[in-house]
Amino acid sequence: MAQLGTDARVETRADAVLAALDDEQRAAAQAVSGPVCILAGAGTGKTRTITHRIAYGVHTGVYVPEQVLAVTFTARAAGELRGRLAGLDVGGVQARTFHAAAMRQLRYFAPRVLGGPMPELVENKLRLVAAAASRSRLSTDRTSLRDLASEIEWAKTTLATPDDYPARAKAAGRELPFEAAAVAAVYASYESAKQRDGALDFEDLLLVTAYALEEHPDVARQVRGQYRHFVVDEYQDVNPLQQRLLDAWLGGRADLCVVGDPNQTIYSFTGADPDYLLGFADRYPDAAVVKLERDYRSTPQVVGLANRLIGQAPRRKGLPELRLHGQRADGPEPRFTEYPDEPAEAAAVAARCRALIDAGTPASEIAVLFRINAQSQVYESALADAGVPYVLKGGERFFERPEVREAVLLLRGAAAGGSEPGALVPTVRDVLASTGWVEHRPPPGGAARDRWQSLAALVDLAVDLVAENPNLDLPGFVTHLAERAGAQHAPTVQGVTLASMHAAKGLEWDVVFVVGLVDGVVPIAQSLSRPLAVDEERRLLYVAITRAREHLQLSWSPARNPGAKRARPRSRFLTGLAPDSGPTAPAARRAAKRPKVVLEGEAGELFERLRAWRSQAAQSASVPAYVVFTDATLQAIAETRPATLRELSGLPGIGARKLELYGDDVLATVTG
Ligand code: ATP
Ligand code: MG
Repeated sequence: MAQLGTDARVETRADAVLAALDDEQRAAAQAVSGPVCILAGAGTGKTRTITHRIAYGVHTGVYVPEQVLAVTFTARAAGELRGRLAGLDVGGVQARTFHAAAMRQLRYFAPRVLGGPMPELVENKLRLVAAAASRSRLSTDRTSLRDLASEIEWAKTTLATPDDYPARAKAAGRELPFEAAAVAAVYASYESAKQRDGALDFEDLLLVTAYALEEHPDVARQVRGQYRHFVVDEYQDVNPLQQRLLDAWLGGRADLCVVGDPNQTIYSFTGADPDYLLGFADRYPDAAVVKLERDYRSTPQVVGLANRLIGQAPRRKGLPELRLHGQRADGPEPRFTEYPDEPAEAAAVAARCRALIDAGTPASEIAVLFRINAQSQVYESALADAGVPYVLKGGERFFERPEVREAVLLLRGAAAGGSEPGALVPTVRDVLASTGWVEHRPPPGGAARDRWQSLAALVDLAVDLVAENPNLDLPGFVTHLAERAGAQHAPTVQGVTLASMHAAKGLEWDVVFVVGLVDGVVPIAQSLSRPLAVDEERRLLYVAITRAREHLQLSWSPARNPGAKRARPRSRFLTGLAPDSGPTAPAARRAAKRPKVVLEGEAGELFERLRAWRSQAAQSASVPAYVVFTDATLQAIAETRPATLRELSGLPGIGARKLELYGDDVLATVTG
C-alpha cells in the first residue's frame, strides 16, 4: 500500500511538471534519454523546458539527480538554473558553468593527471602577456595589451596553436593589434612562460580537463560513470574548446539536450560558434528537434519590436526563421526617448524607477541595461541620488567583497559557539550589527552604501532560506554560504538591476530600460568597420530588449556631458523602429534641445538666486554645476518653494545624498 502511495505521488509530481508546458515543450521534456535540440527564439520557454525535462526525468525515476550535469555560460545563468530546479523540487542536479564544472573535476583529478595539486590559476593574462610582448620587443600600451590577450583567448577557445594562428586569424577576419606573426610569437612565449610557472589560465582549465578524459581511461570511466545526462542552455554560444570538453564528457554517448537561439549569439567574436547548434541534427540524426514559437515572456508590443529588429539582420543561410508570437495580453508600447546628455538620461531613468517603485513595482523587477560597464557609473549615481536601491551585475564576485568576507568570518565564528534553533535571522542581524551595520538605515551613497547593501543581502538570504526551511540554524546557514561562495552565486539583493547587455542574457524583468543607444556604443565603435561584428551588436540589442516582460524604454543622448557637443547620433539599429525618422537631422536636433527655463516673477528671482548658489557650491566642490543640481531641479524648487527638508525631498532630482549635502543650503536660499 505504502509503495502505491509513493508511486501515485511520483506520478502527480511528474504530471504537474508536464502540465506546466505547452505541447512542443512537453514533447521535448518527455524525450528524456535521447538527443534533443531546441532551437527557438527569446522567451519561448527553452530554459523552462530543460529545467522541466530534468524534473520530469528525476520525478519519473529515469534520472538519478546526481548524474545530471546542466551547463551554461555565466555564473548568473547557472544560478538561474539552480533556482528554477529548486522551484521544481529537484535537488542534487549539478548546474554549473563550463568553468566551474571543469574546475571541480580537475581539482579532484589533478594529482592523477598533473602529478600534483591543482596548479595556480592565471586570473588575468595581462601581466604575462606584457612580459611576453616585451620579450618579442613589441611596444605596447594598455589597449594593445588587452587586444593581444583577447587574441590569445580567441586562439585558445578556437583550438588554434601559435603555428595555426596567422592563417586562422586571417580566415576569420580578425582585426589584429600587430602583424599576425608577431601575435603568434607573443602567444607562444606567453604559453611557455605560463608553463614554466606551472600555472593554468581559464582556457587551460577546460583543455586540461578534456585532455584528462581523453587520455586517462580511468578518469574518463569515473567522470562518465558519474554524469550520464547532459544539458546545455544557451548552446548558440558554445565555442570549440567548450564543445571539446562536452564531447569528452559524453564519450560518444548521446544523452544530450541542447537549447539555444542563433539570434542571441553574442560571443562569436570571442570564439563561440552557433554552427554547433545549427548542425546538431546532422551530428545526431535521431535527435528530437523541437521548435518553439510562442513567446510567453513579453507583451506583443515588445515581441513586435524584437521581430522588427532581428528582421533587419541579413538572413543567415540555413537559419530557420525564428519569428516570435507574443502570448501575453497587450501592454504599453515601447518608449523611445532622447535626452540632451547622459546625466539627464540617467536622472530621468532613475526618476522613472523611483516612480514605478513608489507605485508598487518591486525594485528587483526593474533593470537598466547598457553596452559597456563604464556606462554604469552615471546610472549608479543617478539611482543613488534618487534614493533607488540597485544591484550592479558582476555580482558574481559578491563573496569576494571585503565586507562579505568579514561578515562570513564573523558568522562562522558565531556558529562555532553553537546556536539557538529558530533564531537564524535575528542572530545574523546581531552578528552583522557588531560590524556597525544598522538595518533600515542605508548610508546615502557611494562605497558605504554598497557595503550596506551587501550585508543587507546576507540578511535577505537568511530570511529566504528560513522561509524554505524554518529549522535552518546558524551552522547550516554558514555551510550554505560556503557552498554558494564555492559556486560564486551571489544572493539577490532587492534593488534595480544595473547590468551590461551581455550579463542580462537568459534573464527577465517586468521593466527594462535599454540606455545609451548611440552609434559608437551600440553598435560599439570597434565593430563599425566589420559588418559581421555589427550584426553581432544587433543581436546584443535583441537580447537586451527581449528581457522585458512589459515596460520597455530605449533611450539615447546626443551629448555625453551637459553643454558638450551633440556629437553622438542615435543608434543606427533604431532606424525604422523608433517613431521619428532621423534625430541626426538638423531640425530634429534643434527640436530636442534642452528647453530654456523661463520663470516669471518671484519664481524667476528665486531661480536666479538658486543658480548663483549652485555655481558657488559647484566651484567649492570642484564639480560641474549640473552635478550639484540640474536646471530642472532648480526650476522645481523655485516653483514649489519647499519650506522643509521633507518637502524638498519630494522633488525630482533630490535623493538622500543631495538632501544631506545641500538640503540646508537650499532651504536657506529659498527663505532668502
Ligand atoms: P531566453 O532565450 O531569453 O533565454 P527562454 O526561451 O529560455 O528565453 P524562458 O526563460 O524559459 O525562455 O521562458 C520565458 C518566460 O516565459 C518565463 O517566465 C517562463 O516561465 C514563461 N513560460 C515559458 N513557457 C511557458 C508556458 N508553457 N506557460 C507559461 N509560462 C511559460
Ligand atoms: Mg533561457
